[in-house]
Amino acid sequence: MNLTRRCFLAVGMGAAAGTLGTPLPWKLADDTAIWTQNWPWTPVPADGAASRVAARCLLCANGCGIHVRCMDDRPISIEGLPGDPLGGGGLCPQGASTLQLSYGPARVVKPLKRSGERGSGAFVPVSWNAALDLMVKRLKKCQTDGRANALAGVMNRSDNGTLPAMMQRFFHAYGSTHLYAPETADTAAAAFFSSAVGHPVILSRDMADCDLVLSLGCGLVEGWGTPVAMIRTVSGWKDAGTQLFHTDSRLSNTAAQAAGKWIPIRPGSEKNLVTGMIAEILRQNRFSPAAMTRIRDFRTWAGTLVRNTDLADAAAATGISESRIRKLAAAFATAKKPVALFGRGQGDYPLRTDEMLTFQALNLLCSGASKLTAAPDYGAWKRPGTLFRPLHQLADHAADVDMLWVVEANPAYTLKASARTRKRLSDIPFIVSMTSQMDETALMADLILPVHTGIERIDDRVAFPPGPSPWMTFSPAAVRPVYNTRHPGDLILALAAAVGGKTAFALPWNSMEAALKARHGKNWQTLARHGAIEMTAGPSVTTPLDLRDMAAITAADPDPGDDYPLTLVPVDSLCAANDSQANTPFMTKIVSDSVLKKRDLLVEINPVTAKRLGLGDCEQARLETPVGAATVRVHLTDGMMPGVIGMPRGFGHQAQDPYISGKGISYHMLIAAAEDTVTGFDTAWMSRARLSRV
Ligand code: SF4
Repeated sequence: MNLTRRCFLAVGMGAAAGTLGTPLPWKLADDTAIWTQNWPWTPVPADGAASRVAARCLLCANGCGIHVRCMDDRPISIEGLPGDPLGGGGLCPQGASTLQLSYGPARVVKPLKRSGERGSGAFVPVSWNAALDLMVKRLKKCQTDGRANALAGVMNRSDNGTLPAMMQRFFHAYGSTHLYAPETADTAAAAFFSSAVGHPVILSRDMADCDLVLSLGCGLVEGWGTPVAMIRTVSGWKDAGTQLFHTDSRLSNTAAQAAGKWIPIRPGSEKNLVTGMIAEILRQNRFSPAAMTRIRDFRTWAGTLVRNTDLADAAAATGISESRIRKLAAAFATAKKPVALFGRGQGDYPLRTDEMLTFQALNLLCSGASKLTAAPDYGAWKRPGTLFRPLHQLADHAADVDMLWVVEANPAYTLKASARTRKRLSDIPFIVSMTSQMDETALMADLILPVHTGIERIDDRVAFPPGPSPWMTFSPAAVRPVYNTRHPGDLILALAAAVGGKTAFALPWNSMEAALKARHGKNWQTLARHGAIEMTAGPSVTTPLDLRDMAAITAADPDPGDDYPLTLVPVDSLCAANDSQANTPFMTKIVSDSVLKKRDLLVEINPVTAKRLGLGDCEQARLETPVGAATVRVHLTDGMMPGVIGMPRGFGHQAQDPYISGKGISYHMLIAAAEDTVTGFDTAWMSRARLSRV
């Protein structure tokens, strides 16, 4: 068959014409229960009294309500909590199989101290007292040597929950400014817009109440934002007749199943598309009159943008025709409540400043469905702690670190160009990992302090579901801890007390529960009883947004060059966990064989690209980028844009359980961090690449 780029578009549009007919079926709780019974390491409880305990899944910010089914006091399965305001009774595959994190083979069951070469996996058990003594001695030494900044900390979340706030207080009182966490598109946008308007704000998007959605590469049914709540919202759009336009270089599930219209676009060129749309809306005078007060110095900004924007350039950069850009602009401008959503894939890549400004400019121009509101009151602790730094900056500071304290994070896996980064981390004299799983960072640690899994502990989170307001959520401990583990919050408090001085003063509580009560104050009883409180969104920000920098920053070069003529982009899926937490065994079991063939990862390419390179379906190939190389297999699909390679994320683990370890390669190894000059966030998402036969 002679396949051309037109074939790619035709196939894509045909498939995308299908719509999301029914709410996506997540009957995974039952399936997982069946699978769970088949793993040899899962304890099969004797007959006993059946019960169900309500709690929350703590694996991501969605905080879905769960029912933990128990036989006597042994948990046997997890189900969605019917009627829960956040999960609505649904669960994603990771949440449905979360029980496997408590009993699985990667679980760390007691404190461990390194006994062999770093990374060799040689550890010996150590008592809790001895482990904490070791850590306290190091903490005190850094402080008495006047080198508090030689302590660096890493968390996997920088949200406004109590655990990150405790770490911020610890580091502030201790005197270290080196606390790191990864950013997402949303947290980066909130941080950027907060500094732009001069006080803390959130991006408030009432997605349930809009009539047109422009998704700028968001994997809306692949785990974007708050995954389960988002899938429910997308289902609701279908029922309400909300139009969904989705831009993507790949026929993703969002493009094929959810979107009314899929708009294939060259990777990374969304800013060009939106700039073209804005110019067209301005030229046609189709903007909302309110835009003149939302955007600073509106007339000058609009005049400059119209003068400098040629639709032909936008069409050339994006691969989208001028007439299509015009139609999209008209549809957006004439909708009653349109909203442009941004954050590529699962939304965990921060965007460049110029991209954020451009996308929000489109929202400000046409509707109030996406606006900045003052951040709500998250709790009683008003004094700021040490601010989180972007995680990628840890690699540059690593040489000055004496002690790295990692709390439920896995920087050895998640940091980009991670082979090089792992080397820098492994040169740090003392690494402590507080984790429930034997991940890559734990494997290189000197000390592993095992912590309770989500269902074994109390905790809180701030969730940003698709409605206008965030929610404060709380989860009680659904089951007793299975092993000799502790709550990470209790460990932070114990360490603060042992270090003494200002640090002990900043964290005076004797348990995580006491800290939670102090933080939530008058809301504590309600939060503990109901498990979730919808927070009152603050007033809308009335300060006009200064958009002059929108054009001043150079957009990414869409030309991939000669040495690396292809573009590598990540492919996200709900069946592959790509954060600190790796796949559960159940998730690995349901990965398609077009993604993993035994231990080989398959990357997606268009048959046109394959023909040019002389590659056949499933053949091995050498994938190279400017920072790394790996052997992969190719999966030929008309749903991938010619010239683009789609690489599934979430694989290439060297630790964790035997079901995921050693399978595929990690996307992070093939791309380098790219720091935004304004925000300092790492905005790298795609890379130049080449592919050749082996
Ligand atoms: S969406 Fe998040 S909170 Fe909900 S089940 Fe999945 S991992 Fe858990």
